[in-house]
Amino acid sequence: MRTTVGWQADSAMTLRRATVPRRDLRPDDLAVRVDYCGVCHSDLHAVREHHGAADPVLVPGHEFTGVVTEVGSDVSGFGVGDSVAVGNIVDSCGACAMCRAGQENFCREFPTLTYGGTDRRDGSTTLGAYSRGYLVRERFAYHLPAGLDPAGAAPLLCAGITVWEPMRALGIGPGSRVAVVGLGGLGHLAVKLSVALGAETVVVSRSRDKAADARRLGAHEFLVSANETEMDAARDSFDVVIDTISVPHDLGPYLRLVALDGTLSQVGYLGPVTVQTTDLLIGRKKLGSGGSGGRPATAALLEFCARHDITADIEVLPSAQVNEALDRLERNDVRYRFVLDLSDLA
Ligand code: NAP
Ligand code: ZN
Repeated sequence: MRTTVGWQADSAMTLRRATVPRRDLRPDDLAVRVDYCGVCHSDLHAVREHHGAADPVLVPGHEFTGVVTEVGSDVSGFGVGDSVAVGNIVDSCGACAMCRAGQENFCREFPTLTYGGTDRRDGSTTLGAYSRGYLVRERFAYHLPAGLDPAGAAPLLCAGITVWEPMRALGIGPGSRVAVVGLGGLGHLAVKLSVALGAETVVVSRSRDKAADARRLGAHEFLVSANETEMDAARDSFDVVIDTISVPHDLGPYLRLVALDGTLSQVGYLGPVTVQTTDLLIGRKKLGSGGSGGRPATAALLEFCARHDITADIEVLPSAQVNEALDRLERNDVRYRFVLDLSDLA
């Protein structure tokens, strides 16, 4: 067993510096020095819901970039010194229909999450990348394309892929109309990706505060969700609505934006939702979701982002400021993703 240093949740709903255990290198493992890790709203949910000693140890962090420091004896695709990116899936069964289809994110045995998951080989709880070192199975690491800034690229591995996969699966491209609801970490990447895919892209936000940013990100229009006149005028007009809102909410107003035979993809808040059947019935609308991505889609996203020069809009903080990052994220005070610089951890 080896150790690294990281940020662990305690009972006061804050993170404190701690020694983090890491497994010994397996034959198909890469040891990665974590340089940058994005702060996802899911991390905030996990920390706020953690009950201290009563729960398994929690070290968040599931979108990171870094450099390979060691490779196991069976590793063939990576070498020491390679720049890599890792998202929120670090293992899967590899044999079920989903895995065989390249959708390891939907593995029938449930994929092993980068933190809070169960290691398939030793049964331990995985500990995330708010830490200086991570051990990852080669299969779930990706080469970071040379042109991508490693700090700005980190959020592509959760926020980016989570919106990319449904947008690709729903076939958006030139001629599509896409609405992105909630301009946060997921939302701002959805806008950049949708625009780069050639879709006419509209942001739906709670106020006008982010309107100038939306335009800078490439959005063609901006709707205020609280403005009934604007929402009414946009009714039945989007082939795809990507909903990234982080709290429970009524889907009705967003389903009403969907065009005939279009889809609302609810990728933000993950929990029970209530839907009025008539909001689906009128216009034969579909409700879908998605989360993270399979290996082929993740590799394709990185390649697309390198080609289109897409990274997240980030505010980089030393990892010692992780609690400030979480507090500000909770207050919606980030444009549009915090990224922790882990180099302050010896
Ligand atoms: P974020 O950066 O905090 O963005 C969330 C956005 O939701 C905010 O920017 C805000 O947009 C909107 N919002 C926040 N509070 C709201 C409220 N009370 N009412 C209406 N809108 C509100 O979060 P994120 O990292 O993008 O994550 C978004 C959600 O996706 C989280 O719940 C996260 O857990 C989830 N998530 C899911 C997956 C998955 O696998 N499906 C992956 C990653 C994250 P405006 O200011 O523009 O209104
Ligand atoms: Zn995430």
